[in-house]
Amino acid sequence: MEFLQPATWSEALAMKSAHPEALPIAGGTDVMVDINFDRARPATIIDLTRIADLTEWGMDSAGAHLRIGAGVTYARIIDELSDRLPGLAMASRTVGSPQIRNRGTVGGNLGSASPAGDAHPPLLASDALVELSSTTGSRRVPAREFYTGPKRNAMRKDELIAAFLVEPSRGPQQFSKVGTRNAMVIAVCSFAIALDEERRQVGTGIGSAAPTPVTAGDAESFIEGVLDEGGLWETPGDLAPSALARFGELVAAAARPIDDVRGSAAYRRHALEVLARRTLAWSWDEYRKKSAA
Ligand SMILES: Cc1cc2nc3c(=O)[nH]c(=O)nc-3n(C[C@H](O)[C@H](O)[C@H](O)COP(=O)(O)OP(=O)(O)OC[C@H]3O[C@@H](n4cnc5c(N)ncnc54)[C@H](O)[C@@H]3O)c2cc1C
Repeated sequence: MEFLQPATWSEALAMKSAHPEALPIAGGTDVMVDINFDRARPATIIDLTRIADLTEWGMDSAGAHLRIGAGVTYARIIDELSDRLPGLAMASRTVGSPQIRNRGTVGGNLGSASPAGDAHPPLLASDALVELSSTTGSRRVPAREFYTGPKRNAMRKDELIAAFLVEPSRGPQQFSKVGTRNAMVIAVCSFAIALDEERRQVGTGIGSAAPTPVTAGDAESFIEGVLDEGGLWETPGDLAPSALARFGELVAAAARPIDDVRGSAAYRRHALEVLARRTLAWSWDEYRKKSAA
């Protein structure tokens, strides 16, 4: 196996361009499992861990988004970005164990593009962008277009993931995951919600209940309508139980789950309905309390 170890980002991009089949490795928490179980036998590996640019984050030059390097670990998202990205931080807290959160990166989650990856629902709910780079330039792909199939994404073979971009939260965010135990568990299903008080929008993200992570567009439009028509953003009152229930039903309807070892399709739909209802109620409660303060 050829092992390439670039020291700079431009060197990494040149290596990927020269070896399009080479497998990048960041934290290695997916790559090493695949190699150990003989699911992958890459002829060439590009180690990205020496590239300082990938571990940096800050406001993007245009000013609206946080730009977070693909190599920032879950542990750092929790420690450094919980206030600005509460949904992603909540999801990060549920990933693996302390060891996995210290090594594993959001860039690696995006690279694997598993429908069960925990970073995806909050990235979808807050309309994140994924920055892909090659020697010929960079492009920013909306998360909503990034996942193209089970464990497939929009990255070309000559590209690497440089960063992801998210606007700092403009309202309450929640993430909730169902698993067979409390820690070290792959999601049976998961759900993220992000309220945007300024744009009067509600974003959603569903994990582990379709061939790719997906959003629940009908549920988003439905609840935005309820909040607008009731004037609830301005004078936040109770959300009617019927509205919470309908939101849950529409989220469950957006999923395309399968029966597998972790759970049945029917259970996943039911669980998503409950997660959606609960996370909406929690985030609306937070919005009401903040508005009343
Ligand atoms: C015990 C255990 C528990 C786990 N628990 C969870 C969990 O609860 N939730 C969860 O979502 N995941 C979990 N995982 C999976 C894994 O930790 C995550 O998917 C993690 O985000 C992978 O990040 P990494 O940096 O280790 O990626 P790596 O293993 O280094 O890479 C993963 C993939 O991304 C590609 N890649 C990495 N960086 C780049 C880049 N910059 N550009 C292009 N491609 C890139 C690699 O080529 C590879 O295809 C677990 C894994 C283990 C071993």
